[in-house]
Amino acid sequence: MLTGSCLCGAVAYEVDVPPDRPREPIVHCHCRTCRKAHGSAFSSVMGVPREAFRWVRGAGNLGEYESSPGKFRRFCRSCGSQVLADRPARDHVLLRLGCLDTPITDRPAGHIWRSDAASWYNPSDALPEAPDGVLR
Ligand SMILES: [Zn+2]
Ligand SMILES: [Zn+2]
Repeated sequence: MLTGSCLCGAVAYEVDVPPDRPREPIVHCHCRTCRKAHGSAFSSVMGVPREAFRWVRGAGNLGEYESSPGKFRRFCRSCGSQVLADRPARDHVLLRLGCLDTPITDRPAGHIWRSDAASWYNPSDALPEAPDGVLR
């Protein structure tokens, strides 16, 4: 079982898949619409089977934006968290992994839509890391 929730907690979901079984590969999407929707360099995404996914809280609090024909970006109306992307015709839904609460062992398979990427971020750059909010 995977669980996820938005920033304010109004919206939550469950997915009936084991945390250690591979699913659709995790990718970091750099497309323009992901950058704009998330306000960041990329969106980290993983597909899970639609039939395994369910909202457990706040389904009525979801907003949606059809960013391209048939693709709905679903977000919490209270806090703005992008929780899910969904093409209703497909058999899987795309979790926005920043909202996932369950630790998983899967690791990202790669970066997609690098042709659309922000000029200021290169995933090949090795950057210093800080355990907190301060670079020393
Ligand atoms: Zn929220
Ligand atoms: Zn994208």
